[in-house]
Order: sequence, then C-alpha cells, then structure tokens
Amino acid sequence: MRTPDFDQKRKRMVEEQLAPRRIHDPRVLRAMQTVPRHRFVPPDLQERAYADCPLPIGEHQTISQPYIVALMTELLTLKGTEKVLEIGTGSGYQAAILGKLAQEVHTVERHASLAKRAEDVLRELGCENVHVHHADGSSGLPEHAPYEGVIVTAAAPEVPKILLDQLADGGVLVIPVGGYYGQTLQRWERIGESFTYDDIAPVAFVPLRGQMGWGDGEWGI
Ligand code: SAH
Repeated sequence: MRTPDFDQKRKRMVEEQLAPRRIHDPRVLRAMQTVPRHRFVPPDLQERAYADCPLPIGEHQTISQPYIVALMTELLTLKGTEKVLEIGTGSGYQAAILGKLAQEVHTVERHASLAKRAEDVLRELGCENVHVHHADGSSGLPEHAPYEGVIVTAAAPEVPKILLDQLADGGVLVIPVGGYYGQTLQRWERIGESFTYDDIAPVAFVPLRGQMGWGDGEWGI
C-alpha cells in the first residue's frame, strides 16, 4: 500500500542523505527511491524508517543506515544481469534493493525468525528474484556460485577466502572487516585468479557469526 507520507520521507531520504554524499549511480538512487524501507522495520519504528541511522530489527540485529545500504550497493556496480549473494539478510531490505538492480539475488540469514519475516515481506512486495536461505552464510552458498557480486552485511574478522573463491571472474565482494569497535568497508575484485582490494570507509556493523566469522557469544551479543 502506498502512503503519501512515506513516499515523501523516502524522497527526502534520497535528496538529503544519498545524493549529496557519494551516491551517483542513477539506478541505485532509483532503487532507494522505490523500495518501501518502512515495510522492513518493526511496526513501532516505521515512522523512523527513513532517518539517517540504523534501526533495531530484533535478535540484537539492525537494518543498516540508508546511506550505507546505498554505498555498498553502488560499490557492486550492478548492470542488471548479475547473480548476487548477500550474507546477512536481516530485515531483507538490502536484498530487496539488490533485487531491483541484479537478475537474481540469494540472501542467507542465520536467525530463523529474521529469515522468515524477510521472506514474508519480500513475497508481499513481489520481489520474485530474491531467494532467502536460512543457514550459516559465512562460508557462502556454493550451490549457486559463481556470483558476479557478493555483499556481506555483518563484520568479519578477516575476508573469508571461501567467499572470494565463489566470485565469478570480474566479480566484486563488498565486506566490512575488523573488530568490535569498528571496521573498514572493503571492495574486493577478482581478475582471473588474482584478487585486489580497496579500503572504502570506516563503518560499524554487527558481527558475522558462524564457521568463518566470530564465535557465538564473542562480543557479548
Ligand atoms: N542486510 C540487512 C542487515 C544485516 S544485519 C538488512 O538489510 O536489514 C546483519 C545480519 O547478519 C543479521 O541479521 C545477522 O543475524 C546476520 N548474520 C550474522 N552472521 C551470519 C552468518 N554467519 N550467516 C548468515 N547470517 C548472518
């Protein structure tokens, strides 16, 4: 359902939080303008869905700040033909954005309750090319590899080599790497069997758990 108030807030979000920063790709701006972010946050927080900050979504997890979603998406340089893997479905919002910009999206979430809720919203919104998987995604999703884009929306202690291996030739991996008090957003690119990366920006994400992430309970959450 379209609510004029939310449409207005979303327009302001794009104009005030994204365009003036370094988000230039018109396809990314259009996707951010189109996807109803308020549908991905708990009902009592919908009024704040378009604020310039992350919000809690349950299970001690958060939906990322709109600017960070846009920045990570832009770094993938999607044209519309790609198969993309996201680790950390959370609310499903980032996956919905990716669904507008790629051909096929696989997104993995370790919390069953979050995976279920994200799946429900994505179905309600008709995001047919987004597939939610309930699993430990820290080792990727080999059954659908290779991917032209991989995006990790939780902080890893280091870049899991197993995720780089699931990149297609020319593919891009975007991932926050570092510890509890903050991380560096990195953009990795595969050319043949060689991998190069750039440091993009300081960020703060919840931890990536599982086999290739931080142990359960580390960082106290
Ligand atoms: N992209 C999300 C926000 C991600 S918050 C959005 O748009 O809302 C990070 C998410 O990563 C959390 O939901 C957390 O449960 C999940 N996560 C952490 N470690 C994981 C793992 N090993 N496999 C899958 N999901 C993981």
